[in-house]
Amino acid sequence: MVIGILGAGQLARMLALAGKPLGLQFIFLDPTPIACAAELGEHLIGDYTDKALLTDLAKRCDIITYEFENVPLEIIEFLNQQTPVYPPAKALEIGQDRITEKTFLNDLAIETAPFQAVSSLTELETAMPTIGYPAILKTRRLGYDGKGQVVLNSNDDLTSAWQAVKNAPCVVEGFVAFQREVSIIASRSVAGEIVYYPLSENQHEKGILRLATAIPNDALQSQAEQLIHSLLIALDYVGTLALELFVVGDKLIANEFAPRVHNSGHWTIEGSETSQFENHLRAIIDLPLGDTKTLGYVAMQNFIGNIPDIKTLLSIPQLHLHLYNKAPRKGRKIAHASLRTDSLMHFNDAISTLTELAASSDDS
Ligand code: AMP
Repeated sequence: MVIGILGAGQLARMLALAGKPLGLQFIFLDPTPIACAAELGEHLIGDYTDKALLTDLAKRCDIITYEFENVPLEIIEFLNQQTPVYPPAKALEIGQDRITEKTFLNDLAIETAPFQAVSSLTELETAMPTIGYPAILKTRRLGYDGKGQVVLNSNDDLTSAWQAVKNAPCVVEGFVAFQREVSIIASRSVAGEIVYYPLSENQHEKGILRLATAIPNDALQSQAEQLIHSLLIALDYVGTLALELFVVGDKLIANEFAPRVHNSGHWTIEGSETSQFENHLRAIIDLPLGDTKTLGYVAMQNFIGNIPDIKTLLSIPQLHLHLYNKAPRKGRKIAHASLRTDSLMHFNDAISTLTELAASSDDS
């Protein structure tokens, strides 16, 4: 069976690595001539809007999926006329705009921070008495890893913040004073089978995920499962879906969802019976989904911009290193390491060594 993937970055790479044992073959479409998934299949180099290339991809693939959520919707609709594309276009359409996304979540009774759409400095000034300070101004579209975001602490910040977002249509939202950030990942197959992963507790810095730790048996697990369940059903979703949440007391407040495999689920490769990548593939080709049981104490550390000394890293017992074969560049995710151990003491020691190493090489 041949799977087409729009994008050939690290998520596509990890999907392909998970799919090879199942005998799957991969064709990637990505405009970047040097793309890190390319060595695991065939790489069609060209623009995502190139109709001839899209037709070629659709003809040669049984199923198509994507690794990033900013795929233009017309492309999915064009491909879908020839070959099934999962996750469904509806998930992309809603998730690509922070206003439609938050409205959709609220309609499903999933709480978000208070928000308002703003498309001018005057509208921002008018919204602030309702939203209150502190707040965050975010571009409605194309934001990721904290890009296109400005924190607002008082009326004095509004003019410069509006300049920083370059007049783009925005959402202004209340700052959530959260105790923890978590995400829940689930997969749903064509047949409608659903599996959930344990919550991941996520630490961000400068808007970029650094450390993700599996927290099986968290008191908020079933609440999180209910939220993502209603999202999966409302979107008629197929594939792996991630929902990012803020924890405030015993309440979960949604930040956003990602209609794809997610960075906070990379620990599932070694840390779960079946990874989020394998379950995404099983879901879209309609195979039974795999067990999501966590195998011990598990966490994942991202490496941003640079990688610490590899020999030092690999001298940490039970560490698994994933190099994406991407050129080091400031702010770029280029590798991660996962830890999976049976001993909490070793886990805690190894995590502090790992986070120190990551911080010392960090270039963000
Ligand atoms: P986002 O691009 O929306 O995922 O935001 C990136 C990170 O910024 C989140 O993971 C949070 O750490 C922080 N953040 C975003 N929105 C809010 C908010 N409304 N309140 C508090 N922190 C936020």
